[in-house]
Amino acid sequence: MQSTRVTFPDGSTTGEGEVLLVDRDASVVVVDVTPFHPEDHTWPDQPGDVGSLVSGDVRATVSEAVMAAVSDEGVLAVGGDIPVKRGGEGWTWLVGHRIEGGIPEQVAVGAPVTLEVDAGRRAALSRGHTACHLASLALDAVLADLWRKQIGTDPLGNPDFEGRANQTSRIHADGSVDEYRLGKSLRKAGFDSEGFAASLAEREERINEQLASWVASAAASCVDVEGPRIIDRRSWRCELPEGEVGFLCGGTHVHSLAEFASITVSLDLGDPQLLVMTTRATPALG
Ligand SMILES: [Zn+2]
Repeated sequence: MQSTRVTFPDGSTTGEGEVLLVDRDASVVVVDVTPFHPEDHTWPDQPGDVGSLVSGDVRATVSEAVMAAVSDEGVLAVGGDIPVKRGGEGWTWLVGHRIEGGIPEQVAVGAPVTLEVDAGRRAALSRGHTACHLASLALDAVLADLWRKQIGTDPLGNPDFEGRANQTSRIHADGSVDEYRLGKSLRKAGFDSEGFAASLAEREERINEQLASWVASAAASCVDVEGPRIIDRRSWRCELPEGEVGFLCGGTHVHSLAEFASITVSLDLGDPQLLVMTTRATPALG
């Protein structure tokens, strides 16, 4: 079996394919090529797409697209049950379509199918994901003066607070929630947590000013791919006025920052050891 080819990086939400594998116990269907973006089992930041799988006159609901993998011994593992990290040796990497309410009989190996992603939800997740990356770049920029030692830099050349402290990132429709650990090790690395806490409201305002100016720039944004397979490396790229930024990212993104009316964050330090950044995107009209 070949690794699944994917078309979501260019924004596709529909496609045709041939069924390669049906697992009725797991209620998972694998197709040779799919527009569905699966949740990554290694770093589950963006939820999998939902939509439909159509075979002839039968329409099945795809409740979630997930990563799947078949071992060289022929064992199928799905989502969180995959025992190795993405790309691990000895496995073929696939996109699984979880079917709600049982897989129809017509959906069998070799059958041609049409795949349709819920395009409205995908667009909202793409806005949420791009907003999440922009917010983290703005956060790095606004926290830059709080570092007393040199650390690695982010794609805009600012001290990489995101890379150092980010613990979890959860993307949802038109937004995201990121958690950052502000513990002892960050202080040891030279970060002034007290100075940060004392200036939280002012820094939140500056992040929002930066985000407003990026939205106003209507910069182009895209996903670059090294190949067509789900396992090939993908990167998000955005042509910000300060310069082009990019980093590895398996998710989906907007084509232009003109797709936003606004992006704003709120910072919460209710637990002084844990910064919670909540990002909200408002889509542009039309
Ligand atoms: Zn990403």
